[in-house]
Amino acid sequence: MPRLDGKVAIITGAAQGIGAVYAQALADEGAKVMIADILDGNPTASRISAQGGTADFMQTDVSDESSVAAMVDATVAKWGGVDILINNAAIWASLRAKPFEDISPEEWDKLMAVNVKGPFLCARAVVPHMRAGKYGRIVNIASGTAYKGTPNFLHYVTSKGAVIAMTRALAREVGEDGITVNTLAPGLVLSEQVVASPELLEKLSAPVMASRAIKRDQLPQDLVGPLLFLVSDDAAFMTGEVTVIDGGSVMH
Ligand code: NAD
Repeated sequence: MPRLDGKVAIITGAAQGIGAVYAQALADEGAKVMIADILDGNPTASRISAQGGTADFMQTDVSDESSVAAMVDATVAKWGGVDILINNAAIWASLRAKPFEDISPEEWDKLMAVNVKGPFLCARAVVPHMRAGKYGRIVNIASGTAYKGTPNFLHYVTSKGAVIAMTRALAREVGEDGITVNTLAPGLVLSEQVVASPELLEKLSAPVMASRAIKRDQLPQDLVGPLLFLVSDDAAFMTGEVTVIDGGSVMH
């Protein structure tokens, strides 16, 4: 039997990129997958359905409380609950490297609203449903940059550090309810948006490759096994942890 048979999963930011790969993987394991993205996720949901999976899309702005509530309500109305939340949406690939003094306060607030407030709002909306079922798996997507202190992306790196801290504090509040909260921290992944951003690739590729123990490009597929482990029953006694998947660039 597939590992996630009958489970209901919400994944944010899965219209494209690594999130779309996670969504397919969750569906392949039997989960019913709600794609929540500000962009149109219908093509991704249709692709999953065409492969025999169960998926739907709800347009969602994770930084907006009422938008998140509407998405979670629609998921519960459709499939009866929520078992898994993957907080994957983030402002990231559109960023340009710049010294911290050039980051405007408005840019800072916008990024924090999506990358930090977004996971908070989504967790806040799903936890009552997970508590009702005495079961839940929350995976927050951070980044190895939070460990490396990668320069010239101060707001992004700070936001991913906050996600790691949020994971730990939330894990302690919901552990008694059968809910685990963990962080998955990828290295530089050749996702579609990264490949489409030559400036980002040029800036990050050489130092990242030099720092890796395994000297090859990281692909979205490299993250699928660890993600499925974190949402499976195999990881039932693991919570508040960070799993770094980056070819041995960050070892902690
Ligand atoms: P991406 O930009 O391709 O995907 C991000 C998704 O989030 C997009 O579909 C976007 O529409 C969505 N999104 C943005 N703002 C939103 C909002 N307000 N509400 C709902 N959805 C919103 O990025 P990706 O490369 O696939 O990265 C996915 C995750 O992995 C992100 O959290 C990113 O920080 C993290 N990550 C990526 C890399 C990498 O190298 N690609 C490395 C480390 C961590």
